[in-house]
Amino acid sequence: MNKIEHIGIAVKDLEASNLVFKKLFGAPHYKLEEVASEGVKTSFFKVGPNKIELLEATREDSPIAKYIERKGEGIHHIAFEVEDIAKEIERLKGEGFIVLNETPKKGADNKLVAFLHPKSSNGVLVELCQEVK
Ligand code: ZN
Repeated sequence: MNKIEHIGIAVKDLEASNLVFKKLFGAPHYKLEEVASEGVKTSFFKVGPNKIELLEATREDSPIAKYIERKGEGIHHIAFEVEDIAKEIERLKGEGFIVLNETPKKGADNKLVAFLHPKSSNGVLVELCQEVK
């Protein structure tokens, strides 16, 4: 793994949260994107070399809606950049991690993504992401 690619935060109201985080960072989001297949709307902020992703559910069966129902708003996942997502999935499976989607799927921000189940990583939902070139 290379670095933390971004941190994902689950929010109830993306528009309102965009204003909050704009005040926090002193700069607005640079990107808005809906990922219909995941039932989410996202926005991205840059903080120096780091990125923060806000996620709002667009339907009730969205993983974000379920998360907020169970745990409330807050930090939802940490995403790590990888060079070769297929290889990394194989490696992590071999190490005993539970991979939620073994076939990488298209995520926001032009990435191929896969998630590890939080129960295999101390309660942390880990996202692997590989830039699509
Ligand atoms: Zn993410």
